[in-house]
Amino acid sequence: MSSSILLKNGTALLHGVDDHVRSEKTDILITGNTIAKIAPNIDISALQDVETIHCTDKIISPGFVDTHHHLWQTQLKGRHADEQLLEYMATGNAQSSQYTESSIFYGQLAGCLEALAAGTTYILDHAHIDVSPTASRTALAATISSGLRSTFAYTPTARITSWHPLTKSPTPLEPWVFPNLTSLSASLAAGWGSSRVQLGLGFDFYFLGPALVTELFAHAKDCGVRTITSHYVRSAQMSLASLPETLSTFGVLDQSILFSHATGCSASDVALITNAGAHVSCTPAIELQMAHGAPVAWREDIPGIHASCSLGVDCHSAVAASMPEVMRTGLQAARGMRNLRFEAAGVTPTKLHAAMGVERAFNLGTILGARAVRAQDRIGSLAVGKLADVVVFDAVSPAMVGAAQQDAVVAVVMHSSPADVEVVIVDGVVRKRGGRLVDVVVDEVAREVLGGRETLAWKDVAKEIVRSREEIQREIEKIDFVDSKERLVKSFYVDQSKLVEDI
Ligand SMILES: [Zn+2]
Repeated sequence: MSSSILLKNGTALLHGVDDHVRSEKTDILITGNTIAKIAPNIDISALQDVETIHCTDKIISPGFVDTHHHLWQTQLKGRHADEQLLEYMATGNAQSSQYTESSIFYGQLAGCLEALAAGTTYILDHAHIDVSPTASRTALAATISSGLRSTFAYTPTARITSWHPLTKSPTPLEPWVFPNLTSLSASLAAGWGSSRVQLGLGFDFYFLGPALVTELFAHAKDCGVRTITSHYVRSAQMSLASLPETLSTFGVLDQSILFSHATGCSASDVALITNAGAHVSCTPAIELQMAHGAPVAWREDIPGIHASCSLGVDCHSAVAASMPEVMRTGLQAARGMRNLRFEAAGVTPTKLHAAMGVERAFNLGTILGARAVRAQDRIGSLAVGKLADVVVFDAVSPAMVGAAQQDAVVAVVMHSSPADVEVVIVDGVVRKRGGRLVDVVVDEVAREVLGGRETLAWKDVAKEIVRSREEIQREIEKIDFVDSKERLVKSFYVDQSKLVEDI
């Protein structure tokens, strides 16, 4: 591996004043894990051991920042396409309890690799896979093996102890939660993951009350946690209560908090979130499918929330893990919803809303994402001194040619797919080259789980996904989902009179 990489003569997307993104023909020199220089014709004659990647007819973009994702769910892909939230909770989310250590590793690794192949270089992973004392360590070992930059939000998980009938663990906060936070934090502090991976906290059990919540959050912060993330869907299908209000009452609403979705949030929620310096991850593809409500990043009635927003994929078990796809799904849905509002009034808009432009969508998946996890000084844009998380797109592919030469940001947001991502660099290390994922070196912690395997090519990972998916599917086929879903919905105290098939 070379100690420096020169990206030669590409069209770089550079952030400037007010987050305006300009395209500039330039070289970018990466030294170690850092962007060392951005300038045309960089002279590398005095440097040794430089790998040159020729970027003529390429777009060089900052790596994408995804602020809400459940990376373990790969083996569940394909089963949720026609499902709503409460169906998915039974057929998807709760299936974590079917995962063995090996399926956790491969599910998580393949989730990371799908994202990397699509140009995502950072993920806030809401890791609700804590189904045994060692499950989270195995999942984290997979993230570390992948090379992705990530905040692993360790999440106390609602375990299903029996499916016949569906029975939840009587102790939502398992006895290993506090010790696990301590030991994962100690391992990371001792150099595990070489600072690419940080510990966060995912939490959704506010019914446990203020004493336990404040104790857990304080412990997490003592363990170095800087980001705490919670699902918040304010709607009839989950709860009409205000989570920001609950957190505020508990005394834990601060800048470490990142709400995923916040769909249905009110103006007073917005005030609480913005005053606290908290943030939101908007996941349009899932929110639109699962009736969460309108994605808040584009809501016209609460513009005060826009600057606190970022974007996430959420469940790659249900939608593609591509941030440009998330950007355009959210953007086009917002434009469509606005147009319908005008149509209902018998008029037609002559201009797009200022917040519904392509550049802002790009920023939601880059620099605004970095701000949401308070890492804007390190990631989210191409700038000297920032970490080298970079994506190179083919600008003359069948999808990109023409668009890329006219407007490179438009090309990325509106025309690209993961097939156009040629090179992905995270922390100065090439993870995708020539359009293909580079082989993975298995982290030592996981080698025992994998029977001593040290390296994995993508085809090895794919084979293991096929195998473990079949294993999980065999168990899923034994479940009575009508009964299980009913019991699960009851356990969430959902007002069932609000669940209707049609109106
Ligand atoms: Zn989620």
